[in-house]
Amino acid sequence: MAEVIFALVTILALFALAMNRASLRTWALAAAIFTLSAQMGLAHGQLHWPVFPLWSLFGWLAAGLLFAASFPEIKRNYISLPAYRALKGAMPTISETEREALEAGTVGWDAELFSGTPDWAKLRRVAPITLTPEERAFLDGPTTELCRKLNDWHIRHELHDIPDDIWRFVCDHGFLGMLISKKHGGLGFSAQAQSLILGKISSRSPDGVTIVMVPNSLGPGELIEKYGTDAQKEHFLPRLARGEEIPCFALTGPFSGSDAASMRDVGVVTRGQHDGKDTIGISLTWDKRYITLAPKATLLGLAFRLFDPDNHLGRGEDVGITLALIPTNHPGVEIGRRHLPAGAAFPNGPTRGHDVFVPLDWIIGGQERAGQGWRMLMGCLAAGRSISLPATSAAAAKIMLRASTAYARIRKQFNLPIGFMEGVEEPLARLVENAYVIEAARAVTASMVSAGEKPAVISALLKYVSTERMRQSVNDALDIHGGRGICDGPSNYIQGAYQMVPVGITVEGANILTRTLITFAQGALRSHPYLFTEIEALQDNDRERGTALFARTFDDHVSFTMSNAAGSLFHNVTFGLFASSPPNAGATQRWWRELARAARSFALVADLTVALLGGGLKVKQKITGRMADALAELYLLSSVLKRYDDDGRPPEDLKLVDYCAKNCLYRFDQALLGTLRNFPQAWAAWLMAPLVFPFGARHRPASDKEGKEIVRAALEPGAFRDRLTRDIFISNDPADRGGLLDYTLAKVVACEEADRKLERAIRKGEVKRFHDHDWIAEAEAKGVLNADEARALAELRALVARVIAVDDFAAEELAARQASSTPRPQEQPSPKPEHIAAE
Ligand SMILES: Cc1cc2nc3c(=O)[nH]c(=O)nc-3n(C[C@H](O)[C@H](O)[C@H](O)COP(=O)(O)OP(=O)(O)OC[C@H]3O[C@@H](n4cnc5c(N)ncnc54)[C@H](O)[C@@H]3O)c2cc1C
Repeated sequence: MAEVIFALVTILALFALAMNRASLRTWALAAAIFTLSAQMGLAHGQLHWPVFPLWSLFGWLAAGLLFAASFPEIKRNYISLPAYRALKGAMPTISETEREALEAGTVGWDAELFSGTPDWAKLRRVAPITLTPEERAFLDGPTTELCRKLNDWHIRHELHDIPDDIWRFVCDHGFLGMLISKKHGGLGFSAQAQSLILGKISSRSPDGVTIVMVPNSLGPGELIEKYGTDAQKEHFLPRLARGEEIPCFALTGPFSGSDAASMRDVGVVTRGQHDGKDTIGISLTWDKRYITLAPKATLLGLAFRLFDPDNHLGRGEDVGITLALIPTNHPGVEIGRRHLPAGAAFPNGPTRGHDVFVPLDWIIGGQERAGQGWRMLMGCLAAGRSISLPATSAAAAKIMLRASTAYARIRKQFNLPIGFMEGVEEPLARLVENAYVIEAARAVTASMVSAGEKPAVISALLKYVSTERMRQSVNDALDIHGGRGICDGPSNYIQGAYQMVPVGITVEGANILTRTLITFAQGALRSHPYLFTEIEALQDNDRERGTALFARTFDDHVSFTMSNAAGSLFHNVTFGLFASSPPNAGATQRWWRELARAARSFALVADLTVALLGGGLKVKQKITGRMADALAELYLLSSVLKRYDDDGRPPEDLKLVDYCAKNCLYRFDQALLGTLRNFPQAWAAWLMAPLVFPFGARHRPASDKEGKEIVRAALEPGAFRDRLTRDIFISNDPADRGGLLDYTLAKVVACEEADRKLERAIRKGEVKRFHDHDWIAEAEAKGVLNADEARALAELRALVARVIAVDDFAAEELAARQASSTPRPQEQPSPKPEHIAAE
């Protein structure tokens, strides 16, 4: 018995020391106390296990070594320096462009999750959705009006372009200057307001929103607002805000897509003629493609590599990536041709120029900013990526849910609304979950940006997760609608979103790259509490400074790792019962604790993944992809719990929160399990697995029964369904394709009892239901239905026929449109032999 108590106390004390990151002297003292106690126990004949004599022998040695290691000189010479030598060359290196990307953004909640001990107060401090009265009025007023004016079919098919009246409306109402400060003539809206406005527009027309989205991100209003010279701000910003300039931003080229920094577009500082005067300027040659709004743009933001062979700028020959503003009517600018991205209709196309001479003051920010282009781009990207695509993805998930729940309740097969069939319930449950989760993450991230954060890792994570889930929602909506969703026409409300899915997946960092490289491989460098500093120290050419910095950080890193190892095992063995949760967590306390528990496991595996993969981190993308997924699930769960609190904890939402939490934790487990099963160093996986999964991966996804409950709630018109689809364009007008769905849904619910009577009569053969026969009149005549019921069902019959109808076209109509809209692609120059050799 004494042995058991002694062993237990020792183990608990070791856990407490490790978890609380005790100093080496405290460890030494603890080792001494336990050794002394073991010796006393042995002397009094109370400890008999063979381990105790062994411990009494080596305990003093351990205590002595720990005590010695607590002296800085000894620690430096015998621990830190050998580690420094061993790790130099083994850790990932950071290129200049990567450094600029890493230094550009901020860290926030991602760093808390990486720490393994998230500080809940930091998440709670993020404001719930907050709009100024002016922003709210804009969302409810001009944004709603714009939505009413947008005709998706007209844009996508008839015009294959954005109509002039829409351009005029967005320019006149200041939509293009939402991020431009009031001082410069813009609306100066918060990130949250911009996000909600973009989402609402995209819920009406995914094509239409692009003309508002681009000017309000990189393109290049934000760059001018942040980095422009006073003259550039005064000249361009009011013009951009009023829509007198249509901007675009050109970074991507045929040979530099994801690896944009490898661009071949070049500018050479040289003498030339501008406005009839001899001046020093830049001779530019570029070839860019996929540029949104380029065919309509009047102002081209251009990224290129600047060289200064004669050192006019005094900065050496290779100045670096530089950004310039070029009016598209400037001689030599080739722009105007269009790509057809996935059949979508928003303007997008290439631009080229050869030896185009521009003055130096066209560089964004002037000469001083020459060479700082990459840093400037990254500075804007972190915030921008948190807004546009999460906003449009959340809106797509919400509108797909709203349409699919209505359709699934209206559309009957086998005498049953299809939404009540278990097979259809599955995609419906995913739709409900995705709409709630993406909106939760969108809202919390937009609030962070509104508060001044530029979340580098979270923005990447949210970009790929929100667009992937949006893709899932659109596909699920299509499956639920069957042929109704596939056949295109003015009444189809899914195809617009479907066409835009690959665009969201690809732009602002294609998803595969964003998941496998940016979120974790680079994200770990940013969010890990010590890694970036350690790598900086290892790469420092001043060896003295480097080793000193390394020694300091390495110490903390070791205690961090031990703390997470002990913390993981402790919380996983105790199923998170003792994990932290925020005060007054209420009914979701269990999930906060589970989140804390999972964060500990994540921190441990992330830490060892980075330490052990070292320089191989960027190529082991199946591992980093899974780690990105694990981090994403933690972020989503944090967002869900926060949303529930911010929404005022509506009791009806609790089931959905439970549902989401179970699935997040299940997917988190699977991501970590996949990492460990495929970990390149099997011994390390063996070491981590018992700490992270002492009883195996125990989390189960939410059950079928729970899925049914949330779907049944979402199939009912009312507050729950409205909350799930908040802040998108909703109409109650049956003349509107979306309004027709909601209007009919209300009638379906109202007529349910009468419909049941009618169905019974039809099944019994009392009433016949065929074309050219009024079965409702027959049911009324036979007393199955009363007059009111018959009238309501007759109205419903007509409405349902409209809801399920698909468009058809005369052959001549299609032939005419085909002839007028078939574009002639420009012949691509075939590559010259030296190009081929260079590839
Ligand atoms: C409709 C549309 C609008 C656009 N608008 C603009 C715009 O306004 N301005 C602008 O400058 N650009 C724009 N782009 C360009 C867009 O940002 C690029 O398409 C994107 O960066 C990917 O480049 P890429 O298409 O050349 O693909 P590639 O770089 O060839 O990538 C192909 C695949 O390989 C993956 N991949 C590449 N490298 C890695 C890696 N290291 N690790 C793992 N996977 C990797 C990618 O994820 C992708 O799946 C637009 C593109 C489209 C399609």
